[in-house]
Amino acid sequence: MSKGEHSESNNFSEIPLARRLSPSGRISSSKFRYVLFGTVFLTLFTVFISINLAPNQSINILTKGRKNIGKISKDGRLLGHFPYPEASTKNLKTVYPGLKVHKNTFNALAKMRSVAASEGIKLIVLSGYRSINLQKEIFYSNKSFRNQIAIERAKVSAPPGYSEHSTGYAVDFGDGTMRDTDFEVSFEKTPAFLWLQRNAAKYHFVLSFPKGNPQGISYEPWHWRFEGTVEALRQFEPANKLQIKKRLK
Ligand SMILES: [Zn+2]
Repeated sequence: MSKGEHSESNNFSEIPLARRLSPSGRISSSKFRYVLFGTVFLTLFTVFISINLAPNQSINILTKGRKNIGKISKDGRLLGHFPYPEASTKNLKTVYPGLKVHKNTFNALAKMRSVAASEGIKLIVLSGYRSINLQKEIFYSNKSFRNQIAIERAKVSAPPGYSEHSTGYAVDFGDGTMRDTDFEVSFEKTPAFLWLQRNAAKYHFVLSFPKGNPQGISYEPWHWRFEGTVEALRQFEPANKLQIKKRLK
């Protein structure tokens, strides 16, 4: 053993015990770091997964932590709304840029609007087809809904996957001469609404959510659905059955 080596070993023995143990101390601290990172990663992963599954599994989000809210009823409804499929893109037709309806609704809608116009009624289309993703945005991020719980929100807007607008058969109407009544109950006082009440049925349009509707959804005088084909009727059959049931009571 050279002098130098001896002196090194001497130096080691001079290191306080606590510091000599530091290598093993380091191992346990890195173990702790692994556990910490693992936990953080798992938490973030779980949050990421639940956010991304929201459109298809809105029920999970809606029911989480809330008793008696968001339970699907026996007839398939969630918060009063029936489930509806998304119309296939090939079945959609453009009314004007950014607004589409089901191709089977298109002609009846055009005819109805032109007859209304010939009678001096400016019947405008505010919204038609909405993808489930767009419905998700409306339901979850609308500013006015921020402070509302799901059950309150559902009275004025359907949860994604449960909107008649996804079918392409539903249309929201406005009166071109009274735009301040757009999406307002006061739309019922407009010439456009009064005209719809008298004439919409001729073109197979039905008011989806009249006052006191059995689905428990807020009165929406502007929201009408087209039922002029077997396919449309089939999709709205559960809603119509419920309406008939209420009338028979
Ligand atoms: Zn609507």
